[in-house]
Amino acid sequence: MLAIQADRTGGPEVLKVVDLPIPEPGPGQIRIHQAAIGLNYIDTYHRTGLYPVKLPMVLGQEGAGTVDAVGAGVTRFAVGDRAAYGTGPMGAYAQFHVAPEGRVVKLPDSISFETAAAAMLKGMTTEFLVRRCYPVKAGEAVLIHAAAGGVGGLLTQWAKSLDAYVIGAVGSEDKAAIARNQGCDEVILYRDEDVAKRVRELTGGMGVRVAYDGVGAATFEATLASLGRRGMFVSFGNASGPAPAVEPGRLARGGSLFLTRPTLFDYVVTTEELDESAGALFAVIASGAVKIPIGQTFPLAEARRAHEALEGRATVGASLLIP
Ligand code: NDP
Repeated sequence: MLAIQADRTGGPEVLKVVDLPIPEPGPGQIRIHQAAIGLNYIDTYHRTGLYPVKLPMVLGQEGAGTVDAVGAGVTRFAVGDRAAYGTGPMGAYAQFHVAPEGRVVKLPDSISFETAAAAMLKGMTTEFLVRRCYPVKAGEAVLIHAAAGGVGGLLTQWAKSLDAYVIGAVGSEDKAAIARNQGCDEVILYRDEDVAKRVRELTGGMGVRVAYDGVGAATFEATLASLGRRGMFVSFGNASGPAPAVEPGRLARGGSLFLTRPTLFDYVVTTEELDESAGALFAVIASGAVKIPIGQTFPLAEARRAHEALEGRATVGASLLIP
């Protein structure tokens, strides 16, 4: 089967097209013949070594397709079922993927493979961020960085569906238009404008209740300065590099702030949590509250080009790799 493998860490050039044997599912595992694979920023962290992984590695943790083989003792799936996953295991950048059945969900007929592959990891991330990490409430001011991106676009829509006042920050005018279309009440161009100053203006000096920051290093100070008293700083990614160390006294001086650095892999751990999170995601997709914008699609063999686009800030919404 065609797969994308890295045998060392580094830039997009370490991604090589390889021909690997089709894997066999072991006990409790299923094999998915993949129709679509999700591209995620976390894949770039695995590729560069920012998040350490064992080499050689086939990247990717999100995909959807049809179950074409099941191992001994499997009870959740049968051959022919439509299936999707978004918490790994690693190895999604391939035509076939083997996973423990407890890390995969059955896909409702109403959700296409493409939508699922674009939505599972980013959508379950959005679910835990707005419902569990910091439960967003109606009327609250929320700041979302990279609001036209994969997770950012879903965060915007989900927060709006909870009647929050959403301020998005984006890197270009084109992305500002997308962010507005997805429901941002106000959009800040964070490469040109003073984010914290604009946030204070937009919130009558109060600052936001919660800031979702997946950009990391470049936005850290602005995020801290945008929070209102007892606000919550949710630092959930490193698109511009990891956020710096912070001395607790700064949280006191900022107004008794909270700072958390969550990951999906601590909020969706058990199969029950997976079913619950994916179920909530499928419900907001079915109701129309959250649409899954697929901004660009690449052939799997062109994963290198896809990584270059993602890291070059040249993507909007979610990106797919098609095997
Ligand atoms: P995106 O589609 O959001 O792409 C990243 C975006 O970040 C870019 O499009 C760009 O938007 C913005 N950005 C700002 N500065 C930079 C920079 N220096 N280099 C590159 N991009 C930059 O990616 P994803 O939706 O896949 O992920 C978004 C974030 O969420 C990532 O940090 C990711 O790690 C994190 N994440 C965290 C999870 C968790 O469990 N903690 C789970 C899933 C994702 P613009 O041009 O508008 O600035």
